Amino acid sequence: MIVQMKKNATKSQVSNLVSFLKEKGFSVKDVSSIDVKIFGVIGDTKSINTSHLEAFEGVYKVVRVQKPYKLASRDFKAENTIIKIKEDIYVGDGSFQIIAGPCSVEDINTMEQIAENLVKNNVKMIRGGAFKPRTSPYSFQGLGLEGLKILKEVSIKYNLAVVTEIISPTQIEVLEEYVDIYQVGTRNMQNYALLEALGKQTKKPVIIKRGMSATIEEWLLSAEYVLNGGNPNVILCERGIRTFEKYTRNTLDIAAVLAVKELSHLPVIVDPSHASGKYEMIEKLSLASYVVGADGVIIEIHPNPERAYSDGAQSLKLSKFDSLVKQTNKIKSVF
Ligand code: PEP
Ligand code: MN
Repeated sequence: MIVQMKKNATKSQVSNLVSFLKEKGFSVKDVSSIDVKIFGVIGDTKSINTSHLEAFEGVYKVVRVQKPYKLASRDFKAENTIIKIKEDIYVGDGSFQIIAGPCSVEDINTMEQIAENLVKNNVKMIRGGAFKPRTSPYSFQGLGLEGLKILKEVSIKYNLAVVTEIISPTQIEVLEEYVDIYQVGTRNMQNYALLEALGKQTKKPVIIKRGMSATIEEWLLSAEYVLNGGNPNVILCERGIRTFEKYTRNTLDIAAVLAVKELSHLPVIVDPSHASGKYEMIEKLSLASYVVGADGVIIEIHPNPERAYSDGAQSLKLSKFDSLVKQTNKIKSVF
């Protein structure tokens, strides 16, 4: 960490800061020139907040050199993390996994139709929300436990792994029996009680969607909560961020995939459905995700999107999903 003092900082302000840092166990190296007064703070600085040091009188600016996350960092673990979901299903092993299903679990027939389509396309993981974190309290909130039971039935019959969203730490006890992968939604990326619980109370993989206004660093710090709790099975998911652009529901930050690959050893997947909000864009955005090195995609599909309980406009019809899988296989053979 580098601390730059103000031009007019007094000797006592400098010594106040230096003794604080020394008390905390850091060594402080004066690297000032004639023009600028600068100190290097040496030690494990991830527990210090830059704004805390900026509260000291005489401090002009504090710049972090060490990353604030550790376990999620590529510096901590150089090789890619491969996550085992079930027998023969891995994420992060170089395969491009497709997870697909409706936004919300609606009924057994719809889920069976979707599951049959997944099996036909050799897709191994089904998604579906049973507890939905809806922006409005008047929107469909999900089937709850009944939805979990439908997911379980379908997953057994069609041998699929289940991805479903968790919205409260108290749900782990119930969900543990029904899910193969927990999904933390964009609205809960900074629900630290939830992240801590998923770190401590389960070893099942956790998909952490990027908060809609989260920086990549904040997103990796959310992963750090789960890792630090003791669960190493974290998958990151870029699902679009809020920008000034209104044409699409969110803006897919495709470069974030490359950034995460550089900064972290964790697998990263893309959700082109929530990123764009438009079914027409999903196939091409999935191909783009593959090209930038994502470990997979999570996609909303529905046999009858016009009738979907939620997110119909961004759900692919099954025939369009067939095409997406075909195109993905094609691009894999050439790229
Ligand atoms: C979802 O996957 O249906 C969902 C609500 O996603 P997000 O948290 O990315 O909005
Ligand atoms: Mn959705």
